[in-house]
Amino acid sequence: MRVHIDQEKCCGAGSCVLSAPEVFDQREEDGIVVLLDAEPPAGLHEAVHEAAAICPAAAISVEQAEQVDQAERVERV
Ligand code: SF4
Repeated sequence: MRVHIDQEKCCGAGSCVLSAPEVFDQREEDGIVVLLDAEPPAGLHEAVHEAAAICPAAAISVEQAEQVDQAERVERV
């Protein structure tokens, strides 16, 4: 998973920080989102999807790295 944020769209609502504080933070001066982890571990994926879904500004997008997932699966076998 790769996470993208658009600071131009962000309105500083902070919902993403509540959903996934390990991945998102806010700038102190204006509350605009800051990305802490662009490739969060699997345990945080659900929280990141939730953050993207509830962001009122649609400023968070998630890219699924299916090829990476497949490579991991092959390695586990
Ligand atoms: S939820 Fe969206 S609008 Fe609110 S701080 Fe996060 S990225 Fe910005």
